Amino acid sequence: MPNPFELRGKRLLVVGLARTGVATALFCAERGAKVTATDARSENEIGDTIAPLRAAGVSLELGDHRENSFLEQDLIVPSPGVPADAPLLQAARAKGVTIWSEVELADRFLRGRLIGITGSNGKTTTTSLIDHILKNAGFSTILAGNIGTPLIARVDQTNGDSITVAELSSFQLELIETLRPNISVFLNLTPDHLDRHHTLEAYGRAKARIFENQTEADSAVLNADDPATTPLAPTKPQVYWFSRKQRVAQGAFVRGNEIVFRRDGQEEAVLHLKDIPLAGGHNVENVLAAVAAARLVGAQAEAIARGIRSFAGVEHRLEFVAEIVGVRYYNDSKATNVDATLKALDAFPGRILIVLGGKDKGSDYTVLQKPLREKAILALLIGAAAEKIENQITGSVAIERAGTIERAVEIASLAARPGDVVLLAPACASFDQFQNYEHRGRVFKDLVHQLERQAASTSARG
Ligand code: ADP
Repeated sequence: MPNPFELRGKRLLVVGLARTGVATALFCAERGAKVTATDARSENEIGDTIAPLRAAGVSLELGDHRENSFLEQDLIVPSPGVPADAPLLQAARAKGVTIWSEVELADRFLRGRLIGITGSNGKTTTTSLIDHILKNAGFSTILAGNIGTPLIARVDQTNGDSITVAELSSFQLELIETLRPNISVFLNLTPDHLDRHHTLEAYGRAKARIFENQTEADSAVLNADDPATTPLAPTKPQVYWFSRKQRVAQGAFVRGNEIVFRRDGQEEAVLHLKDIPLAGGHNVENVLAAVAAARLVGAQAEAIARGIRSFAGVEHRLEFVAEIVGVRYYNDSKATNVDATLKALDAFPGRILIVLGGKDKGSDYTVLQKPLREKAILALLIGAAAEKIENQITGSVAIERAGTIERAVEIASLAARPGDVVLLAPACASFDQFQNYEHRGRVFKDLVHQLERQAASTSARG
């Protein structure tokens, strides 16, 4: 708790009332702050999740934002969905109002150690994996952040012995002040969210703030294979690298078929690549990062290996769904950007029927041409981005404009032969046809399970 903060009597505005905003408003009201909470949505649109706020004495301003409410505060905590440069926040900033993300506020109340994980892709997988390894190794861990429960809702559970493992997004990191992980992990940097951060440099800078307050007593874990992240390596904390391609001075790397951890010139084998229960080279990177973080916390190599072997993966991340008459179906609905889709294609040797499309985020799909040509036999396009994707990948693979996910699964199931892979890795957001990527993934899985039942009844009759 390096920089405690007194909430009692403070005037505080929470902007955006999704999960994080509601948790923040409650946390602050319970500690005696005078909390106002605002959301552009009306009460009807938000629903009953805000009932506890009324009970806690939070003033609600719904359906619109009032400029005065932004200017007359001691502290504003915007939700991750609110751009840091929104005009009302700029106006408040100009008047000297402090603006922090929820994780900055939470960090001031956190006890024990903090491992923070950021990167463009792999945060949730790596955060869950580190938590799983450490729990299995007997540490008292708390999983928090973007991954489900906001950090602020977890701080009361922390104590001097706990290790909080938190996924930190660029939106959260761009509004920190003193947040300081004992161990920070920076997985990779590829184009995403450029609608919010405008340039890759600005996006990278926001993420690199994870290192900003670290001292010599802390550690930073970075990807030596990613040329976009290596220049962002910090100078103060102890730097550990991870690499699939080369031995590193300090950190985790692949040697032959093994993962090795190296520190102070000593090397120890941790586990065999074949013992990693997750598909794809990108997951080797996540495992390497997790090995380094867990080792730095003090877990032994053998316990780390046990944890990795027993990790079940995270839903919607290259998740195996079913094998139906020799065709394997994978749900990678969380592949909401092009890089994640490239990694998904890379995870299989070939004969892929891929479902692509959804809501475009201004992405460049031409980079998919080469892997599609080499690995895919059919691209099934769905959603609003279908036309743009078709224009940008045309000539690389056979294309079907399926339109909907139902039709895409149907066509794929008729076209696939034993040994093929049907892969949902859409490279787009989901909001044009679904509530979110989880919804899209569940619909896909339901469709596959229907096919499975049909196939079972056909073979039973036959
Ligand atoms: P995040 O929380 O950063 O979005 P996830 O673990 O949820 O990361 O994975 C998001 C998507 O990226 C999934 O499609 C997953 O298969 C893919 N992915 C996971 N790890 C990596 C990685 N290290 N590099 C690139 N893609 C990855």
